[in-house]
Amino acid sequence: MKDLDSLDFEPRFARLGNAFSAPIEPTALAQASMVICSTDALALLDLPASTLDDPRLLQLASGEWYWPQTTPRAMVYSGHQFGGYTPRLGDGRGLLLAEVRNSAGEHWDVHLKGAGLTPFSRSGDGRAVLRSSIREFLASEYLHTLGIATSRALCVADSQTMVWREQRETAATLIRLAPSHIRFGHFEYFYYNQKYAELEQLQAHVLSDLYPECLTADEPLAAMLSVVVKRTAETIALWQAYGFCHGVMNTDNMSILGLTFDFGPYAFLDDFKHAHICNHSDNRGRYAFNQQVAMGYWNLTALAETLTRYVAVERLQEILDGYAAIQQQAYLKAMRARLGLPDQQADDAVLIDKLLLQLDHSALDYTLFFRKLGELPAAEALAAMAPEFINQAAFAEWCDAFMARNANDLRTQAQRREQMHAVNPLYMLRNYLIQIAIEAAEDGDYAPLHKLYAVLSTPFTQQDGCAAYAERPPQWGKHLSISCSS
Ligand code: AMP
Ligand code: MG
Repeated sequence: MKDLDSLDFEPRFARLGNAFSAPIEPTALAQASMVICSTDALALLDLPASTLDDPRLLQLASGEWYWPQTTPRAMVYSGHQFGGYTPRLGDGRGLLLAEVRNSAGEHWDVHLKGAGLTPFSRSGDGRAVLRSSIREFLASEYLHTLGIATSRALCVADSQTMVWREQRETAATLIRLAPSHIRFGHFEYFYYNQKYAELEQLQAHVLSDLYPECLTADEPLAAMLSVVVKRTAETIALWQAYGFCHGVMNTDNMSILGLTFDFGPYAFLDDFKHAHICNHSDNRGRYAFNQQVAMGYWNLTALAETLTRYVAVERLQEILDGYAAIQQQAYLKAMRARLGLPDQQADDAVLIDKLLLQLDHSALDYTLFFRKLGELPAAEALAAMAPEFINQAAFAEWCDAFMARNANDLRTQAQRREQMHAVNPLYMLRNYLIQIAIEAAEDGDYAPLHKLYAVLSTPFTQQDGCAAYAERPPQWGKHLSISCSS
């Protein structure tokens, strides 16, 4: 174990120089307080839980202090936002504070979100508010618990610095960790500005530091795109399987590592709704739940465009053409596990689609359906849930198909239940639960947030006295409107 003084730094991105990022000092927050910290994330930096007692952790989070060996940097990138190209974006309110190498040889970027103005702040104030910082903290750590690739969150700090959104709010920060903060938009920035020397420098960095296994391929950049396609397809497959709606899948929010990245108005589905739009600024539903797979492809195409000077278009297209099958395979694998199917059959996709149609039609809770299905033997579980379905005939037909499909399941119910419960969370990161925790935190009471975080950190295990956390949202909590303005 280490402490904040003994970390090893490994400047990889920083070494690319000022064409890629601007050195910027964080602007400290006034009277900061620690809101929440992930000891799991601390461990990624070899830092023990006792680091929380080191006053410099809060100073780091509030922009008052950083390591003397490092230079905080704001990255430049661009991206397609809701389909339209924005020539220059960049870290408008975040800074790459440091790049750390841990004892396992892993590289972690330490990024401070909400660190103040940068050359890329445009009309923004360089700040993040408490509610959005809490939302990102909870989502990153929860997705990780579900086994979905994501950036991580180390801690959230609040302050007495005030900012204006729809109302007056306190400025907060989040320390985010990721092996790299490079987005598809980094490639787009250099490509569309015709800065090919820098584009090639970026490619070389990504290949040697993030995808070294591609360096020996005939065409390293084509090999890199194949891996990015695969990782992106697999991550989005799991979003679909677990009902995660990202909300702002702009290319500047797409990680070159295929991580779930940049959390804004995201939502996990409560009632299953194919066409759910979680971002109330997304008028046309570009990033609706049932558009995410297609949008992943669209974004990968935008990334591939930046490689057209280096790889034949036919080759790029061939790689992109692999996306749908990888996505579908990963999705079916996850859904078979969620449904407890004992093996793999050709028409599983049809069985799954028919179920989702009924869940959507009857507005069933997506999380609880799977959990209940594993709780009792299949026939009993289905019979218990049947009254909740509106189209009784269609559901009965589906149950027959499902039971026939399970006819050669040789597991005992105890085995089946254990396997299903290991992939079907009981406790879901529901928007209304987040909202309750946020409102208390805004009043200075962090206990509900800490409790929610603790319950969600073992979401597959039923916990005593936590029944309330497994409930469907009350009426007020069903259609919370979450905006981009955070
Ligand atoms: P996001 O919607 O968080 O992905 O941000 C899109 C772009 O706007 C990025 O370049 C951000 O850095 C920038 N941005 C978002 N909020 C702010 C803010 N409050 N101040 C400055 N820049 C911001
Ligand atoms: Mg962003």
